[in-house]
Amino acid sequence: MENTKNLFRMLPKVDDILEKEKIQIALEYIPRNIILESIREFLDEVRNDILNSKILKEELDNRINDISQIIIKKAKYKINPKLKRVINGTGTVIHTNLGRSLISKSIMEKVVDIASNYSNLEYDLEKGERGSRYSHIEDIICRITGAESALVVNNNASAVMLILNTLAKGKEVIVSRGELVEIGGSFRVPSVMEQSGATLVDVGTTNKTHKLDYENNINEETAILLKVHTSNYKIVGFTEEVDLESLVKIGHSNNIPVVEDIGSGVLVDLSKYGLSYEPTVQESIKSGVDVVSFSGDKLLGGPQAGIIVGKKDLINRMKRNQLTRALRVDKMTLAALELTLREYLDEQKAIKSIETLNMLTMDIRKIEEKANKLYNLLKHIEKVECKIEDDYSQVGGGALPLEKIKTKVISLYSKSIKVGELEENLRLFNPPIIGRIKNDKLYIDLRTIKEDELDIIFEGIISSIND
Ligand SMILES: *Cc1c(COP(=O)(O)O)cnc(C)c1O
Repeated sequence: MENTKNLFRMLPKVDDILEKEKIQIALEYIPRNIILESIREFLDEVRNDILNSKILKEELDNRINDISQIIIKKAKYKINPKLKRVINGTGTVIHTNLGRSLISKSIMEKVVDIASNYSNLEYDLEKGERGSRYSHIEDIICRITGAESALVVNNNASAVMLILNTLAKGKEVIVSRGELVEIGGSFRVPSVMEQSGATLVDVGTTNKTHKLDYENNINEETAILLKVHTSNYKIVGFTEEVDLESLVKIGHSNNIPVVEDIGSGVLVDLSKYGLSYEPTVQESIKSGVDVVSFSGDKLLGGPQAGIIVGKKDLINRMKRNQLTRALRVDKMTLAALELTLREYLDEQKAIKSIETLNMLTMDIRKIEEKANKLYNLLKHIEKVECKIEDDYSQVGGGALPLEKIKTKVISLYSKSIKVGELEENLRLFNPPIIGRIKNDKLYIDLRTIKEDELDIIFEGIISSIND
């Protein structure tokens, strides 16, 4: 007990800590209330440790010696932005945890210009009167997809919600049991359906759905036939689904609109560039589907957005729905999306300039070149064994789940540090470097690494093994 009292007596007062030279310097760039909060946190932690007998006199001495650094570190953590750039060494191109699609610097410069100045967001420059924020982008979406009309909302989940709420609230929507998907844990077709006010009528079985399954369930209450692209899984083996053309025939002969949630929003035939075929938005429109929705930040390679295309009368009804106001997108999204879509006017250019497509179709020789450069940097580091190895990258974002794209990786192994520790140190580096662990080695896939990130990885690894 006596001991505890003595330890408590060693603790400096808040005012004395504030007067310390390092703290005074920090106060020039860190707000006073943040410093005060950090001081109180420090004192609380130490008091708790003393009360729980977790601290000895020598250790307390050390902590009090380092008091300014500890407090400034705490305060800096509070003021530093939490959302930051990271280096993606996983090889998963559309990595949902790491921000999905990248938007190119040249597009972002133009977005900054629009967002940091006034713009004609809702102003018609020709007529000199109020305009619509969607008008700028509708033409280009229609030109590329071949649709009559278009609307953009916050993401594809909200696009599906808006479609169902507008066209099927209080009515029935027929979907194949094989298409009741869950995407990324929070988008589930049955739940979105319920939230929208529509009633789900799931037909067929998990592996097989026939035309008759749709036809036999159509009644006066049926508002939509919905097709959902099973983006992130495949049903293989003894299977059957109704193709779009047939579904459109069934819908139209019963005067019921056919809606498709195509998920990824592919606008070019990827099989021309060495990837597996994935249905394009253009083909869906051509097959007569009335409304198609897709994401802006998956294979399309733009900002987060949900794009709805289709028949003018149906899209007009969605534009008038109050939900549209709640789901509306910001000018930065509209600017980035319009600029991304303009790249598609020249497909060859789009494949190179849109980062997602560029990474997915990157020549293996280019990846190997980057692997060689990184290897040449790393081979001089003592305590680390590194090798260039063959491996496979993934598309990610719930697209082309079975696709394995040949790539080159650097494998790292160190006798002086456990692989888990190496992974953690790199993850906590500034900027964070994210790799993947396999067979007790850390792998960095060069497909998703940019040329100017090689030096940063080199520094990150040096600092990680000497930590
Ligand atoms: C990804 C996906 C969604 C959700 O799209 P977000 O843009 O992430 O909201 C919905 N449906 C399908 C089929 C998808 O692949």
